[in-house]
Amino acid sequence: MTRDLHFLSDHYRSVISGFENNSKCVLSLFDECDQAAINSHSISATNLRKIAVNGSVIRYRLDTRGGPDKLFERQAGVRVASAFKGFCAKHDRDIFAEIDTPTLEATPRTLQLYFFRACAQELFKKARNIAIFNSYDIVDDKFRKDKSKEAMEFGTLLGIRDLYLLFSKLRSEIQSSNSSSIRFVAFKFSNLLPFAYVGASNFKFFPQYHPVELFADGADDGSAIGVIPSAGGSLGFVVWRKGAEQTMAPIMRRFVIAKIALPEFLLQFGLEHSENIFFQPDWFASVQKDRKDVFRKVQLLNVTNEYSDPNHRPLKDIFRDEGFQKPKLFSNSTSFMMKWRK
Ligand SMILES: [Zn+2]
Repeated sequence: MTRDLHFLSDHYRSVISGFENNSKCVLSLFDECDQAAINSHSISATNLRKIAVNGSVIRYRLDTRGGPDKLFERQAGVRVASAFKGFCAKHDRDIFAEIDTPTLEATPRTLQLYFFRACAQELFKKARNIAIFNSYDIVDDKFRKDKSKEAMEFGTLLGIRDLYLLFSKLRSEIQSSNSSSIRFVAFKFSNLLPFAYVGASNFKFFPQYHPVELFADGADDGSAIGVIPSAGGSLGFVVWRKGAEQTMAPIMRRFVIAKIALPEFLLQFGLEHSENIFFQPDWFASVQKDRKDVFRKVQLLNVTNEYSDPNHRPLKDIFRDEGFQKPKLFSNSTSFMMKWRK
């Protein structure tokens, strides 16, 4: 499998560029729009600029030529860093104007918009993967289809089915200005954390949290996680819809355990669950090499769909000398607040 991916890397590149050039506004899924997609940003440039140096941040890229399992660090301008073909110019501007501002408050409405955009990006990524899967076959000498490729396709399709359900619900709730189903936990720091990320995840598909049930019915129990640099400090959050409490329970437990080391935990959590993670360049340069190797290792497990042990603390003490103030907690989840106060 590994070798095949390596040899297919040039082919991937051409399929991906074909797919991206033909992307329509993601609302074309609901026949709402037929305009071409522009570069949407899962984290707006305004916010990302707060941890940039000369307009750039550090992110990981997958080195497909040097072997599929190598990540390397690269500078990226804030305008391209979190870009994906999501919405047309009009929808991108109209829907997200409220959150593409330097100040970001944790409210059901603002986190609902972050949630919606993170789902759009994840839909785009999964649809692109399906386009890639459909573009090639791996067969053995008896022309039998490769089982691991079939499993990957199946997993991606299940993810798309649930994500689409969630995305549709969020779309209609946003249209009717209804955020009553939104549940969240957010931490507002009085300073900037030296990293940022945002991503949509459904934790029921991660065997470190739940036994994975491949044949369960579709459900809208996905979530989004993020750390967004904003005026006055970073905002870390987890957001989900009412009803997803069971799926979210192991995540809530991790937050409660990490209570006294939240900056460290938010970094680890981002490396574990978001491929869309960015670092402040000066801080990143100051991190010791063996620590950076740990970052890469945790991120690589995420990229290759292997699973890190949620009980490990590989980044323990990393922010010991930073003197971060205790963040303010915002939450409208009674089940979380009960666990937190214990
Ligand atoms: Zn549109």
